[in-house]
Amino acid sequence: ANFEGLGLAEWAVETCKELGMRKPTPVQTHCVPKILAGRDVLGLAQTGSGKTAAFALPILHRFAEDPYGVYALVVTPTRELAFQLAEQFKALGSCLNLRCSVIVGGMDMLTQTRSLVSRPHIVITTPGRIKVLLENNPDVPPVFSRTKFLVLDEADRVLDVCFQDELRVIFQCLPKTRQTLLFSATMTSNLQTLLEHSSNKAYFYEA
Ligand code: AMP
Repeated sequence: ANFEGLGLAEWAVETCKELGMRKPTPVQTHCVPKILAGRDVLGLAQTGSGKTAAFALPILHRFAEDPYGVYALVVTPTRELAFQLAEQFKALGSCLNLRCSVIVGGMDMLTQTRSLVSRPHIVITTPGRIKVLLENNPDVPPVFSRTKFLVLDEADRVLDVCFQDELRVIFQCLPKTRQTLLFSATMTSNLQTLLEHSSNKAYFYEA
């Protein structure tokens, strides 16, 4: 398999080449076409499997066709992971004039609120900080009213009991029609419960 065969735009295929990604990894081969086709996806894959590009490439492909507003909200358990995800989005979307915003703890909340209200294309966040911003300024929730993709990266950790409240707040501000992409190292009962409550039947990939 090669990147052309996954249905990605020419610019995306070229960017992969420039980044030294010669051929898709298994998680990319399986998940990219399903995401491009509009399916929800649950991918069980470890860090290092290429899972970030497996969701970032189809999100960027679709974004480039019809760019507007906050296109994707990506939730990850830690600050470090959030910055790493942003680096990959920026690298993969380097020819797109992409505006990526990292919203994590330890940074000025007024600046973060301004950044969100200016409607970046991709918002990468940790559950705790986005909850506070959503709850404390009425201008923030509408920012996400047309968001196309929700990604839970390291979903087993994001769905941990300590994040349940945060997730409820996040889900409330997203449109029902969005695509949900879950990537996780392990299958957990919380993940199972989330799947049972989702209206779309998710495509399941296991490494
Ligand atoms: P991840 O599993 O998303 O944390 O990715 C691990 C690393 O693999 C990242 O540094 C990517 O740049 C790299 N990578 C992702 N996809 C490919 C690919 N198809 N070929 C070579 N390297 C890749």
